[in-house]
Amino acid sequence: MSRRTALQWVELPDGRCELGWIDHGLPTFRFGHAPSGLATRRQLREAGLCPGGQGIVAQITWKRGRRWAGLYRMDLAKPKRRPSLGQQLAVCKALRARRTCPTCPAGQRVKDYYLPTSPRRCFDCLRHAEEIAQLAA
Ligand SMILES: [Zn+2]
Repeated sequence: MSRRTALQWVELPDGRCELGWIDHGLPTFRFGHAPSGLATRRQLREAGLCPGGQGIVAQITWKRGRRWAGLYRMDLAKPKRRPSLGQQLAVCKALRARRTCPTCPAGQRVKDYYLPTSPRRCFDCLRHAEEIAQLAA
């Protein structure tokens, strides 16, 4: 959807007025023209922040309105959550499982790659299985 309305002064939640337009009930700005103090989720992330439960207060659009991103207030943003020790351990366990071949003796772990998801075997075991299949054929 392209912009149908001309630029106008739109009011931001903090009372400031900026040049933009209203789309879907939100103050809207062109890509690269977001007012200061507002940031996309990705920009918050880069600054070590997260929205912290607040909703979007404005948006930017590009590609003639076919792409858009919500803007959050930086003053209401909260520090990015840190995973708990239990969550970090769970991730380690999952990554270890992705490197452990179930058909190798003693659950050998591959170092240079993650096992393919299907079949979950190391390349040596896959090659071995292919050789056996060729002998049987
Ligand atoms: Zn293996």
